[in-house]
Amino acid sequence: MKILPLFIPHLGCPFDCVYCNQHQITKISQLVISEISSQIENFCKFNKQREKEIAFFGGTFTGIPQEFQQQLLDLVKPFLDKQTGIRISTRPDAISNSTLNFLKANGVTTIELGIQSFADEVLSKSKRGYTSKIAEENCRKIQSHNFKLGVQLMPGLPGFSSATLNQTINTTIAIKPDFIRIYPTIVLGDTKLAELYRAKLYSPLSLDEAIDISVKITNEMQKHNIAIIKAGLHSDIAPEAIIAGPYHPTFGELVRAEIYYQKLLKSYDPEKTLAISPADVSLFKGFSGKMIAKIKTHFQISKISILIDKNTPKNQFDLLDEKNTKAW
Ligand code: SF4
Repeated sequence: MKILPLFIPHLGCPFDCVYCNQHQITKISQLVISEISSQIENFCKFNKQREKEIAFFGGTFTGIPQEFQQQLLDLVKPFLDKQTGIRISTRPDAISNSTLNFLKANGVTTIELGIQSFADEVLSKSKRGYTSKIAEENCRKIQSHNFKLGVQLMPGLPGFSSATLNQTINTTIAIKPDFIRIYPTIVLGDTKLAELYRAKLYSPLSLDEAIDISVKITNEMQKHNIAIIKAGLHSDIAPEAIIAGPYHPTFGELVRAEIYYQKLLKSYDPEKTLAISPADVSLFKGFSGKMIAKIKTHFQISKISILIDKNTPKNQFDLLDEKNTKAW
């Protein structure tokens, strides 16, 4: 699925959430309709024969006055067909039956909800303005109207604990959305969270904690066939926008590397040759060769016999008897 992300920073939001600064995340301060219109046209022309969605991100789409929602949706209308739909992101408390009927009639196919947590303690300490009951009910409402549902989760918000994490994981599994995104909480400039951090009233997760939590969420979701489409904020946020927190430009790869490493620990045999996909070489060699060093230390070996095998799928490996291969 190809996605054209169009950002409508903070449009429709009832207030600025404690952690949110979409202008710094999206680097967009103003919406120019003519630019959006030509982006949509070019994207649809270029991806004519592909499954695709035009996505309105970065605000509360269903909180925008309906005439303006209509104006935005109308920009996509000429391009809608069996392979082309619309995706919107919004708050879980900005959903109603009439909203969903309106979106359905205008070609919206996927709705992403910025749930962040299904634990009331986190939602209240983070001043999100809704309860987990509302979030859960509206997820189910979206599903009952036959939209694809995406859930965005933010471990590490104020009030976060292992208990709230488990509660969030269990509720997400019970709802079974089509996909989730994991955004460990980062402290961005010009936010309430930055003030709390500076006043020592909030401590973010460390990078290692955020990776472990994301690994746990990913493993649990995979057991229930719920796709993870993103872990970590995108890579081009200006460094000066980040005050604190577990930001890494390739956070998703760090999570993937840790999952791979944990699988490897369960079955690796240093006497055998490890066959890996060319697509996974970066997991071993990247991050200053951390994975290679960890395997050597764990198994107390000085070299790893490796075969880079194009028939081995990404994220998988094989253990072979053959010799005469690369040694890392
Ligand atoms: S988190 Fe969502 S609802 Fe809150 S200010 Fe940001 S875009 Fe708006």
